[in-house]
Amino acid sequence: MSLAHGRPYLAIPGPSVMPDAVLQAMHQPAPNIYEGDIVTLVEGIVPDLKRVAKTEGEVAIYIANGHGAWEAALSNLFQPGDRVLIPATGRFAHGWADMAVGLGIVPQIIEFGTKSPIDAARIEEILAADTAHEIKAVMFSHVDTASSIRNDPRPLRAALDVARHPALLMADCIASMACDEFHMDAWGVDVAITGSQKGLMVPPGLSFVFFNDRAKELRAANPRVSRYWDWVPRTEAQAVYQYFGGTSPTHHLFGLRAALDMLHGEGMEQVWARHATLARVVWAACERWSEAGALTLNIAERGLRSHAVTALGLGVGNGQKLRRWTADNAGLTLGLGLGMATAEDPEGTGFFRIGHMGHLNAHMVLGAVGVIEAGLQALQIPHGKGALEKAAEVVAQPGAVAF
Ligand SMILES: *Cc1c(COP(=O)(O)O)cnc(C)c1O
Repeated sequence: MSLAHGRPYLAIPGPSVMPDAVLQAMHQPAPNIYEGDIVTLVEGIVPDLKRVAKTEGEVAIYIANGHGAWEAALSNLFQPGDRVLIPATGRFAHGWADMAVGLGIVPQIIEFGTKSPIDAARIEEILAADTAHEIKAVMFSHVDTASSIRNDPRPLRAALDVARHPALLMADCIASMACDEFHMDAWGVDVAITGSQKGLMVPPGLSFVFFNDRAKELRAANPRVSRYWDWVPRTEAQAVYQYFGGTSPTHHLFGLRAALDMLHGEGMEQVWARHATLARVVWAACERWSEAGALTLNIAERGLRSHAVTALGLGVGNGQKLRRWTADNAGLTLGLGLGMATAEDPEGTGFFRIGHMGHLNAHMVLGAVGVIEAGLQALQIPHGKGALEKAAEVVAQPGAVAF
């Protein structure tokens, strides 16, 4: 017998759970794309997006997934032959670097593995040695979704400042935005990118590049930018058609409007605090499971973990088995391990990830950990006892959690 029938729950690190309010907002006839409500819709969305990123800068909206935002940011700022520095803490840094290579940009990857954060002192040394200022940007993942590490942007800003280096600081916030605390302006991030389908709770298909005046200057000095990715018309055009480089993504915008209303209705500080608390619910259970048996949290230190996703190891083959079991028997889809292959586990079948981003509350997260507990039992994978009790304690005492 399967107990999977009922509402499915997608607990992967993006796309995330879509709120009914978002889906309902999208369920309407096609609007006029040249005039009328669509114009006021876009005018309202732009400032509300900036309030999510905590910036007074600009935002360009693209009809693309996160990979598109990666390419958009690079296309505006760099020319073939330009050098960028990429501190890597997991799969996604390599993805952005690969995008750069495709454009003829020369990335210098500094590897920090998949278990520790970026060491800003190392970056500072490299920047200080670059006296000719050939490095045009430091590009990093705020949260690397594969390893579930969270990198603090502030020490990187400090490294640039101490080295008196003019390179831009560029953050991939695709997994973290509207989940983990982030203040683009106050933390000195020049360019931040995100996508619609994670913390923003909208279907995949929109992505966003936030940029400040320093990035604008670099764009202005750039002799050639691909027409489609150029952010200038996307921030300055008067007409919505030009603003989107063609037909606007009407229904995604309806959904985004509803999602922004939800986020700002709750308040960004509260949204971050909710994610921090729900992450602690997940960790409380995982830490208990890890006390006996095979389960390990990929990031040992709580303060370095993402509040949006948790990567776990369970022993060769077991990650895959658990994901299969929870989907088939309980309607819970967990994330697969990404970029975590080892010599003894070349397919990465021992890993899995729990996405806890976006439209989530306590009953959903407690449900997810309850189902994982059931899966560990059913598959007879040894694990520490008392995980659910620990998880419930965090929900019972949420005030004890700071983000
Ligand atoms: C999801 C994600 C991406 C890729 O986004 P797509 O929409 O799948 O292209 C890039 N970087 C990070 C950190 C992500 O979490």
